[in-house]
Amino acid sequence: MYKNLIDLFKENEGKGAVGAFNVHCFEMLPAMIGAAGELGVPVILQTSLGTAKYIGLEPLIAAVKAIAEKSSISVALHMDHCKDIEALKEAIDLGYSSVMYDGSSLSLEENIKNTKEVVAYAHERNVSVEGEVGSIGGAEEGVVVAKDDAMYTKPEDALYFAQSTGVDALAVSIGTTHGQYKSKAKINYELLTELKAKLGSTGLVLHGGTGVSDEDMRRCVREGMKKINVGTELNKSYIEVVRETFTADDVTPLTSLRNLLGPANDKIAEVVKEKASLFRI
Ligand SMILES: [Zn+2]
Repeated sequence: MYKNLIDLFKENEGKGAVGAFNVHCFEMLPAMIGAAGELGVPVILQTSLGTAKYIGLEPLIAAVKAIAEKSSISVALHMDHCKDIEALKEAIDLGYSSVMYDGSSLSLEENIKNTKEVVAYAHERNVSVEGEVGSIGGAEEGVVVAKDDAMYTKPEDALYFAQSTGVDALAVSIGTTHGQYKSKAKINYELLTELKAKLGSTGLVLHGGTGVSDEDMRRCVREGMKKINVGTELNKSYIEVVRETFTADDVTPLTSLRNLLGPANDKIAEVVKEKASLFRI
């Protein structure tokens, strides 16, 4: 079933966090939904605007909807970190069920003003919205998605932002970094506890999940994270597998690409299952 984040959070209440996995290429889609289906958990597929344009918004949305409708689990399609309001409106019009407006590089007031505009447009069309306060540093897909110098989310700003905008989910900066795969993040749990206490009904979102140890991941879920993003791990895993399959000695121009991409898709399914299992309480 094809749904938005609000539905997924409701359905998942008391069961942990919903995994949000970045789609980097079309081939990953069936593997991701299939893996979540095997576990029987709801799943969020998310794309950057760049990936959405690479695949094409319409074919991407049509494929996710078609696979979701055949699946027994709830699936959301979410636009990750987008600073372009017009692009978000187009994604909403074409059928994304959820979007993130990232105004974290703006002043708090400007961020609120723009996020409110997106929320009004989205909610009228039954689409959920994620915002960001504070700044989660690092880069994804080789592009800097936030300022290099990460800035912890201030709880009072987060509360003011959530109340002013009416967002359904809020990305908070508590020590994770985008694109971190060589080391592990140091999570500020004191801040997470304070944010959870202040924000209650707004779904807190952890970005940069690849850099979080399994132990920290479980604790973040117990402490109230509602959505956890995993992007880099999937990209990295895909590259590792295709690097091997494409350069194997027996590969010829007649080798079916299916045989070279299949193992990478299987790896994606494995990663989704492994991470989504960690997100259960
Ligand atoms: Zn992010």
